[in-house]
Amino acid sequence: MNYLAWLLGISAAFVLLERLFPERRSQPCLRPQLGNDLFYLVFNGHLWALATGALTGALAALVQRHFAPTGLLTGLPFAAQFVVYLVLADLLQWCVHNLLHRVPLLWQFHKLHHSAKQMDFLASFRFHWMELVVYRTLLYLPLLVLGGDAAPLFAVAVFATFWGHLNHSNLRVRLGPLARLFNSPRMHMWHHDLSDEGGAAKNFGIVLSLWDWLFGTAFWPRERAPAQLGYPGEREQPRDALRQELFPLTRIR
Ligand SMILES: [Zn+2]
Ligand SMILES: [Zn+2]
Repeated sequence: MNYLAWLLGISAAFVLLERLFPERRSQPCLRPQLGNDLFYLVFNGHLWALATGALTGALAALVQRHFAPTGLLTGLPFAAQFVVYLVLADLLQWCVHNLLHRVPLLWQFHKLHHSAKQMDFLASFRFHWMELVVYRTLLYLPLLVLGGDAAPLFAVAVFATFWGHLNHSNLRVRLGPLARLFNSPRMHMWHHDLSDEGGAAKNFGIVLSLWDWLFGTAFWPRERAPAQLGYPGEREQPRDALRQELFPLTRIR
């Protein structure tokens, strides 16, 4: 099954799950920017990947030719490769997510993701195409030097897509003690908090919350949710998706 089929299957499952087990029952399904976010799901999840597939493939070949695979993962079973890829990819992703917030140039691209005004699974793919360029370069290319198989790396990409949907979903999830290890909708919601309570930048984790607890960037008052989502100055965002895609380029000086 290719990535698009997984993406559509996971998305369909979340449409159903959010109806059956909502965290916020009064949250509307039909909301502003719904059309934009459907566009981002297809564009970021498939079309942009297709458009840049040849370039990504060429870069991957270049990495493997010039940085001979260390072979660290060669011969390991699928499950072991999956766990190593998942943990390393998630740590790299936590670092990249920090950069997206702390480097002013990268923040110009990332703030589209933070312009979401309510959390549902579609907000997961509401991000600027430049983020894929940054993530692919800083995330997957270093992973290639481990010399593992493509199948566990693909499985990690699918699993991370599921967990990204989960983090943004309007789904009633309680992880109990596992919340110290895994990210969750209630914790990620605080990452989208409009206020600077607990610091303007907090909870950078994607699949694992472990990095935030370890490195002191976790903030989660469990008894409540943020009053408002977004980022200061969010009114600057254009309303239609094409202008949103072009907007950061107009802000670079
Ligand atoms: Zn962010
Ligand atoms: Zn998010």
